[in-house]
Amino acid sequence: MDKYSYEKSSAWLQRAEKVLAGGVSSEFRKYNHPHAIFYTKGKGSHVYDVDGNDYLDFTLSQGPLILGHSHPKVLQAINEYSEQGQLFAGQHIKEVELAEKLNSLIPSAELMRFCLDGSTAVHTALRVARAKTKRKKFLRFEGHYHGWLDNVAWGYAAPAADALGSREHPVVFPWSEGLPENAKEEFILLPWNDLELLRKVVTEHFNDIAAIITEPVMCNNGCIPPKEGFLQGLREICSQFGIALIFDEVITGFRLGLGGAQQYFGIIPDLAIFAKAMGSGYPISAIVGKKEWMQLIEKAKVIHAGTMNSGNATVAASLATIEVLEKEDPYERMFCYGEKLKKGLQQAAVEAGQNLLVQGVGPIVHSGFTQLSQVNDYRDTFSYDKVKLGQLIAGLHNRGVRVIGRGLWYISAAHTEKEIDVAINTATEVLQEMK
Ligand code: PLP
Repeated sequence: MDKYSYEKSSAWLQRAEKVLAGGVSSEFRKYNHPHAIFYTKGKGSHVYDVDGNDYLDFTLSQGPLILGHSHPKVLQAINEYSEQGQLFAGQHIKEVELAEKLNSLIPSAELMRFCLDGSTAVHTALRVARAKTKRKKFLRFEGHYHGWLDNVAWGYAAPAADALGSREHPVVFPWSEGLPENAKEEFILLPWNDLELLRKVVTEHFNDIAAIITEPVMCNNGCIPPKEGFLQGLREICSQFGIALIFDEVITGFRLGLGGAQQYFGIIPDLAIFAKAMGSGYPISAIVGKKEWMQLIEKAKVIHAGTMNSGNATVAASLATIEVLEKEDPYERMFCYGEKLKKGLQQAAVEAGQNLLVQGVGPIVHSGFTQLSQVNDYRDTFSYDKVKLGQLIAGLHNRGVRVIGRGLWYISAAHTEKEIDVAINTATEVLQEMK
């Protein structure tokens, strides 16, 4: 039974489609339920749409809102610092303070540069790795998302399990039309979490490989933790062959802890990308790394630039976000709620006789319908039943619980234990109805 209606959003979408391509400003925003939705307000753990629907929000705007919507300290900091200007085509004091803060919190952040988003910071890291090693390619993993620019838009998604090719030689598909053919020659693609295969391929091709880039937890297709020893093995292989280990911490950064996944797992990469939660919804990211790699930027051997980088508002947003995270230290609570949500959803599914698999790390939780008892890499994710997932997401949405369409739930510092109970109870209702 649908509790919510979306008439006004639907009318706004029709109007938007006349002037905004597809009615949206980012492709992923189309995939809401039942279509792109127009929002009026976000406060704490809730977001409200033009039809007056109120959602308990587990999307956190695809991740950035680690403190929830409209945190007063973040808004205040932005307002105050913006009074002094926006952008100077020059340096300002708070960006040094922010860099010092990151340097003190993130193990690999000896030197850094600020950018606007994850995609451009990823490209900067790859450029640094190629420049230092004088090698041409990078190695990346199936199902890991590193942004939408040319070389990483090749090979992000495959149409079907039987189209993937062998594990040793995966077929590389374009995620978009218009990608240059030669961009797919820039990388080697492999399944994740398979250290033996990785070692074999790197041993054969290390002369070509400048970098290995990985999400430390694979959050863009399911939520798949690294197998025991996998990240350690990656670290060893990279050190052995002089390859840059790049952690794409766009999702894990400030989510698994103030020092990111590298601190959580105790594995220090050479370079890393932080974005999303770093700025509470304001466009700021950082490429951080060890001095021996970042000095290529320091010495201008590698060019990194950007007119809009490190503007007052974005830097103030980031500093305020980190300050609140340091003061409140919500991590134990968020991890505990993540565990509670996982167990609650799993239990609800068992009671409803549904083959829902819930897995995740800390405050990142994924729910998908599959016969498998564990999903370990992208190839396993093809077992997920998309139709049933669609029913679950729609059922939750129509009852006021908003989850990312691919079954991903993010927990923020604004969520309460009661709200986790609400989410579990709502999911129980939906799963029972799906019987
Ligand atoms: N890397 C990862 C792991 C991501 O999840 C994303 C975005 O979702 C990106 C890179 C790209 O970041 P942005 O969308 O800020 O360009």
